[in-house]
Amino acid sequence: AQQRRTLIAGNWKMNGSLSANSALLGELSGASIASACEVLVCVPFVYIPQCEVFLAKTQIAFGAQDVSPHQSGAYTGEISPAMLADFSCKYAIVGHSERRAYHHESNELVAQKALQSLRSNIYPIVCVGETLEQREAGKTNEVVVAQLQAVMDVLDEGALARIVVAYEPVWAIGTGKTATPEMAQDVHAVLRKTLAVRSDFAAEKVRILYGGSMKPENAKELLAMPDIDGGLIGGASLKAVDFLSIVAAA
Ligand code: PEP
Repeated sequence: AQQRRTLIAGNWKMNGSLSANSALLGELSGASIASACEVLVCVPFVYIPQCEVFLAKTQIAFGAQDVSPHQSGAYTGEISPAMLADFSCKYAIVGHSERRAYHHESNELVAQKALQSLRSNIYPIVCVGETLEQREAGKTNEVVVAQLQAVMDVLDEGALARIVVAYEPVWAIGTGKTATPEMAQDVHAVLRKTLAVRSDFAAEKVRILYGGSMKPENAKELLAMPDIDGGLIGGASLKAVDFLSIVAAA
């Protein structure tokens, strides 16, 4: 919306294989993307070099789905932001609800991942969102503001302006249930106001994506809302036709 460039980001999650990815990346890179929006795929770490090859001469960017909060050292199994940058990776999702839930990631850990990513010029896509229980208890705003605030606490104004936020209600992820455009807009507006308390510049700059069962049928109305600046797309990013029709709706 407004002067922010729309971002349509796919999150493949733990899906794909060299051969399946070749087909998908081939279809994506062969498509003529008429829309002015930025297109991104976030893939499992091991497929980042494949993206670097396949997407080199295209306008499609690629990113990781997580990143270490450290730059190097004795952190077995971790991948640092500098390593991602070595492969022309531009973005990393941090704090996805699946990582918060299954890997017990705290708001503070997510904030460190965002901070360290920016130090290597990787843009963090900071995911926030409430569970169904939290929504029903009327705690949605409180939860998402605390999640965003932890990241704001470790970034200066310039760094804050370079993050992307993704509002992903946990009850809408992979369930087929989507927030209505009005429900999503309400939370996006709260998030932007939270950014503005710290910096009007960052609040104007930061793109806030919606995620949670976004698909070709509902993308247009969600993306029409003033504070929804793009989408983070799980399931529908695995099929080129679906992903491209969301891009076309943007
Ligand atoms: C996600 O995992 O970020 C997501 C939004 O998934 P889905 O689109 O499948 O709900």
